Amino acid sequence: MTDTRPDTRPSLHTADVVVIGMGIAGACAAIEAAEAGASVLVLEGASGPGGSSAQSGGEVYLGGGTATQQALGVEDTEEDMRAFLTAALGPNADEAKIADYCAGAVDHHDWLVAHGAEFHHKLWDTPTWMPGDDSGLMWMGERAQPYASIARPAARGHRPPAPNFAGNLLMDALVATAQKAGVTLHCDVKARSLIVSEGRVAGVRATEFGEEREYLATGGVVLATGGFVDNDRMLEQWAPQQVGKDKVSDGRDDGSGIEMGMDIGAAVRRMHQTETAMLIIPRLAVGAMLVDGDGQRFINEEVYPGLYCHAAVHHRRPPVWVIIDEKGIEDVPESELWGMQPMHAAETIEELAADCGLPGDALADTLRRYNAGARNGEDPQFGKSARWVRPLEPPFGAYPTGAGGPDTFNGLPLKAQGFTLGGLHTDLQSRVLDRAGEAIPGLFAAGRCTHGLHGEGYISGTSLGDGSFFGRRAGRGAAQGTG
Ligand SMILES: Cc1cc2nc3c(=O)[nH]c(=O)nc-3n(C[C@H](O)[C@H](O)[C@H](O)COP(=O)(O)OP(=O)(O)OC[C@H]3O[C@@H](n4cnc5c(N)ncnc54)[C@H](O)[C@@H]3O)c2cc1C
Repeated sequence: MTDTRPDTRPSLHTADVVVIGMGIAGACAAIEAAEAGASVLVLEGASGPGGSSAQSGGEVYLGGGTATQQALGVEDTEEDMRAFLTAALGPNADEAKIADYCAGAVDHHDWLVAHGAEFHHKLWDTPTWMPGDDSGLMWMGERAQPYASIARPAARGHRPPAPNFAGNLLMDALVATAQKAGVTLHCDVKARSLIVSEGRVAGVRATEFGEEREYLATGGVVLATGGFVDNDRMLEQWAPQQVGKDKVSDGRDDGSGIEMGMDIGAAVRRMHQTETAMLIIPRLAVGAMLVDGDGQRFINEEVYPGLYCHAAVHHRRPPVWVIIDEKGIEDVPESELWGMQPMHAAETIEELAADCGLPGDALADTLRRYNAGARNGEDPQFGKSARWVRPLEPPFGAYPTGAGGPDTFNGLPLKAQGFTLGGLHTDLQSRVLDRAGEAIPGLFAAGRCTHGLHGEGYISGTSLGDGSFFGRRAGRGAAQGTG
């Protein structure tokens, strides 16, 4: 008798290493595994590679004396880089991962360059989210107090040669390198669950346009699926402070890789940590006062903007405003002002406070103290560099920030935004650990589906940085079948 039922068996593929997700962590894992001689298959849920990595600024935090730093005369050491990151990514940064990352940063820079990354020998010198030119190196707040007293400052933000968002250049180069190395990429394939056989992760169940597929990995599986900011259920559970905020992602940070790992007993770490950004112009803020709903300054406006955004959104009473004067606005180059005029302007600080919903007496007192120090080129409260300190004179202006206050500004939505920094617990070899701290055989992970270097703080470049660095470790480990 002939069986006339349709064949519903999942189609089967086998490779030494199966990587899930082709953002920066997956691309670097795939390249390392292929160069170690493994056959590598990457499953990508989207119709093309790149992930959030391709939409990013492309900034990679590297230092300790990279070739790019040396060419620009920037002196740096591994110890200074480590001290800065430990402070700026803290409290509760992962010191073991930071130390390992810093020890390998010079070599990692050279590896990225050898695999297609380009960092022009040109330094962007003023605070910004992203340089508006092809500068290959930028400052990430290393010169700001308290960090300048903790570690000798050095510019460490390495970036591809394009204005603003340049992550696509970095990802185009890495994807092309992976293809040259013989990596096979299956797009539109969404991994659903891990296959465990005899206590070892042996492959992945996936769907391709609704059809089931099985992918077996003889060496290991690498999870490189990104974070979970697009999954509101997971945000409610792990990082409720992020619910209702805008999402910094490609829309595919659904946490699926994290949950696949957890389903087979993987531990997670630092799931509540998030990166925070807002519509604040760093070049404007550095010459101004950032004040909270009590009319108080709360941070040195010269630090990396993500740090003051995080402090404003998560630790201060709203609304938070940028208080500036006319000269402060004139000092910002047109190209960096994004055409933005202050929302409120007033001849006296008390009038401005009333417009902003701030306590007038407190704001006037804050201004008095700020100006008293500024007359001597000093900021006794937070140690802002003399370069950025100047008494603020009437007329004053105020820019909203998205930490409380108005919902829109200059026709743009004004909302805090961010992405998640917590994820699967991995060791320095990028092996995924279970709740007892034991490596799960055959399973590796890197990028934002893992917990990375971060504690509470975030500095741009450390996500593409740790994703690419520990992605390489994951690929190497899986190729060696050492999980
Ligand atoms: C606008 C923007 C600017 C940024 N700027 C910077 C910056 O300058 N420097 C920096 O360090 N960081 C920056 N970031 C953050 C950084 O881009 C991300 O944190 C980082 O790219 C994460 O890399 P990843 O490899 O872990 O994930 P991704 O790059 O997101 O890649 C994950 C991939 O996995 C795929 N995937 C997910 N689930 C599955 C599944 N179940 N099956 C198959 N495929 C799956 C996704 O489709 C995606 O392609 C920025 C982010 C954005 C959005």
